[in-house]
Amino acid sequence: MNFENKVVVITGGTRGIGLETARSFLKMKAKVVIFGSKEESVNKALSTLKEEGYEALGYYPNLNDYEEVNETIKKIYDKWQRIDILINNAGISANKKIEETTEEDFKNIMDLNVKAIFNTSKAVVPYMKKANRGVILNTSSMVSIYGQPSGVGYPASKFAVNGITKSLARELAPFNIRVNAVAPGIIKTDMVASLKEEMIAPLINKIPLGRIGEPSDIANAFLFLASDMASYITGVILQVDGAAYN
Ligand code: NAD
Repeated sequence: MNFENKVVVITGGTRGIGLETARSFLKMKAKVVIFGSKEESVNKALSTLKEEGYEALGYYPNLNDYEEVNETIKKIYDKWQRIDILINNAGISANKKIEETTEEDFKNIMDLNVKAIFNTSKAVVPYMKKANRGVILNTSSMVSIYGQPSGVGYPASKFAVNGITKSLARELAPFNIRVNAVAPGIIKTDMVASLKEEMIAPLINKIPLGRIGEPSDIANAFLFLASDMASYITGVILQVDGAAYN
């Protein structure tokens, strides 16, 4: 696989799945731009990549502010005259019971996990249409298939991610823009480390492949879906979860 000269924008690229995805595209010679929530975390990720011998760019637009996102995407386009691949990966999770979940909690999840995807996608689509090619990939979750026992905002947001994926796939297919999602199972990142042990252990025991997923398992799925090997695949939610819960 070779992504030489391709420009890839990855939200939530500062750690976990996003950082590993950035690393994977850099290995394949892509030009990678990571988005994070803060200057500090973006700089930390860029220096980690630099120590490994990779050069990337980083920004920290407020993903909820369309104008800010649009300006940042324009800067990237102006630099390279192309945006080939957008990976909407930034996300937060939740596990509180409904009585303990505030309206603000629910709104925060929807703002980042759903509205931000709308904003970034809206900003890149004109450039992809102009090029008559492009790939938009979203990070969904296995909870978008099965739901989860508490933290209702999170699965609600990921069902919405699947809705955006399937709908944009149909809307943008005539412009040779493919839109797919990867639905990770339980992946070894900070997001999972923040969950209580008693919540994770029984889940791992139920995974038929017998292990927790690695960020590289998800990055590999993104590489495939972004590549020409997937040129006839659009509107798909690819489960990468070791058959958890099937
Ligand atoms: P993580 O917490 O390690 O990383 C989250 C990323 O999102 C970070 O780069 C962070 O900067 C960014 N982010 C968080 N809040 C932000 C904000 N307000 N504005 C901009 N960026 C923000 O998480 P991860 O496990 O790597 O998760 C990445 C994606 O994978 C998420 O969409 C998550 O829902 C999904 N996912 C993860 C798992 C898992 O088991 N880890 C499972 C299913 C789905």
